[in-house]
Amino acid sequence: MSYPDLSITFLGTGTSGGVPMIACGCDVCTSENQKDKRFRSSILVQSSTTTLVVDTTPDFRSQMLRENVKKLDAILFTHPHKDHIAGLDDIKAYNFFQHKAMEVYANTLTQEGLKREFYYIFSENKYPGIPNINLHTITDKPFTVGDIPVIPILVFHLKMPVLAFRFGDFTYITDANRIDETEKEKIKGSKILVVNALRKKEHISHFNLQEAIDLVEELKIPKAYFTHISHQLGLHDEINNELPDGIQLAWDGLKLRV
Ligand SMILES: [Zn+2]
Ligand SMILES: [Zn+2]
Repeated sequence: MSYPDLSITFLGTGTSGGVPMIACGCDVCTSENQKDKRFRSSILVQSSTTTLVVDTTPDFRSQMLRENVKKLDAILFTHPHKDHIAGLDDIKAYNFFQHKAMEVYANTLTQEGLKREFYYIFSENKYPGIPNINLHTITDKPFTVGDIPVIPILVFHLKMPVLAFRFGDFTYITDANRIDETEKEKIKGSKILVVNALRKKEHISHFNLQEAIDLVEELKIPKAYFTHISHQLGLHDEINNELPDGIQLAWDGLKLRV
């Protein structure tokens, strides 16, 4: 079976506070360059028949409006941190127009987070108009969403297990600072890798710029885009010019064909 052609759209490429960060007057946060404006990190993955998002950020509503996403079939969650789940309430618009529950794929750790943060979605007596979701439990085993086969990859964000996802030749890793050797094998052979690169300085739970570059080179991935970027990384154009061949910073609205 051949893998379907996919279109990938970067819905957001910023770290948890977004860029610009509220109340910050730094050069990055006051930059006029559109590429220095980053919603929280998420991607849209589309085949000819299936549309899914990875994570629902606090900017989910603005992201869906910006990209004019009229149909959404599923949500895949990486981990339960607020910047990756906060937008879930806004899927109710799709419930309304599609007349059905939203298919949600999450591991048990993320499901616990969703049940805590969105208790009303899971209550016995549901108030009308709240989101309606159909939960699917995923692990590190492959699964399929519509016509899109997905390989989850287990990565670590300090001590928290996070799911990265491989779609054919494209792998997306959002929040990680450690990957075990066995899981690296699942990434090898990807033509495009997206990985988090928070800033230049080291961080307790995210790869910094050099660690992200090292990972791309170690895995011999020909093309890579960095995401989950902090205002502390620096100006998009300046940092982008310093990167090795084949590696770029992602930006909001960037589209790839894979
Ligand atoms: Zn995050
Ligand atoms: Zn996180």
